[in-house]
Amino acid sequence: MVVRTRFAPSPTGFLHVGGARTALFSWLYARHCGGQFVLRIEDTDRERSTQPAIDAILESMQWLKLNWDEGPFYQTKRFDRYQQVIDQLLAEGKAYKCYCSKERLEQMREEQMKQGIKPRYDGRCRDSHEEHSPDEPYVVRFKNPTEGAVAFDDMVKGHIEFANSELDDFIIQRSDGTPTYNFCVVVDDADMGITHVIRGDDHVNNTPRQINLYKALGVPVPVFCHVAMILGDDGTKLSKRHGAVSVMQYREDGYLPEALVNYLVRLGWAHGDQEIFSVPEMVEYFSLDAISKSASSFNTKKLDWLNAHYMKTLPAEEVAAELSWHLQRLDADLSKGPDPKLVVRCYAERTHTLKEMAQKALCYYQDFSEYDPAGVKKWMKEGSVQVLKEAYAILSAAPAWEAEPLDVALSDLAARLEIGMGKVGQPLRIALTGSAMSPGIGDTLVLCGRERALERISKAIKHFSV
Ligand code: GLU
Repeated sequence: MVVRTRFAPSPTGFLHVGGARTALFSWLYARHCGGQFVLRIEDTDRERSTQPAIDAILESMQWLKLNWDEGPFYQTKRFDRYQQVIDQLLAEGKAYKCYCSKERLEQMREEQMKQGIKPRYDGRCRDSHEEHSPDEPYVVRFKNPTEGAVAFDDMVKGHIEFANSELDDFIIQRSDGTPTYNFCVVVDDADMGITHVIRGDDHVNNTPRQINLYKALGVPVPVFCHVAMILGDDGTKLSKRHGAVSVMQYREDGYLPEALVNYLVRLGWAHGDQEIFSVPEMVEYFSLDAISKSASSFNTKKLDWLNAHYMKTLPAEEVAAELSWHLQRLDADLSKGPDPKLVVRCYAERTHTLKEMAQKALCYYQDFSEYDPAGVKKWMKEGSVQVLKEAYAILSAAPAWEAEPLDVALSDLAARLEIGMGKVGQPLRIALTGSAMSPGIGDTLVLCGRERALERISKAIKHFSV
């Protein structure tokens, strides 16, 4: 059997970390089994679905590198197919038209609530032979079995059983002709040959209805795997209150997709006590039976730790690709500065996020407007301008613009002037970057480039010569 999984988001908002984790688990399981991963956009709720949300979902999936083999399929493009199945169920007597008015349903609901019983449709139209005019509005209901039970063995939750007497004849098509979620999801998963449905456990209660529908259609029932939800650091359901929840917000905040993916895989899944997983490792080890039954809590500190790890250990060109995105968002013209790979090499140990790295490195791509007052106060002392002048003379004659010989030349200067290296390096850093905090002075000079470095030193000489 070829394993086929899917991710089926409703595009009513951005892709949040809970959805991304579901997508990741589905993707990993397909990849682990050498199967296929399908992307389906569940956009039948036309009022709440939006194009920006669809775009954000696709963008997030791409950023996380969760590539899909088929799709994106859109439910709104499959209405003919849904109609065909509804007609088939009606013709086979497995569904029926219900003409009950809103008022009647409402009244029934109130009475049931009063009696302390679960509100459910009483089946009035199920076997009715009343005549109706063609323009009378109706919904289509599925004839749920009235006896017996519906059971399934969830890969995470174990054996689950619901008595059919607890389920009512749910609506599969609304009076405006639109099909409902529980119906479309079954038709789609069946048509798309989905073998494993991996999704959030908020759908556990929908599953028995869906299984009855699979059986009525005479199609194989997939394996279900309902993943527990993600809680915030404080144990309550993860929400905006806990900070970023949208995948793209994590990008904006300067996280690497590798860090977020590694972080998400450990939210509810474990492989011994290993914390750091490359994607090939995740694919190799991933299994549904190692998914945790209990909810997992989001821990921003751990995500930060993973981000720092990947900033330092991923090949510089991969980090640089992401850094470039941040630099461009700050309006940096990448052709007017160093290769971003060099920035990564010099800053990976000194910054926690790519956003911070981009902010610190912006001075190598465009002019800065002021010198950091604290740095100036601390380091621009009497004699500093003279040091800058000496440094300028040495640097303008430097035979090679490379970090190591430049470092050596400047420490020779410090020795000749009989002053500490700080008194050379710090005024130079202020001149070159506006602040006294930057990588090694040789690296900083290389990041600036010869021309820009000399220009900035002479500008600082003028600025501080008052
Ligand atoms: N569209 C549903 C949702 O976003 C998911 C349905 C499913 O995975 O079965 O919650």
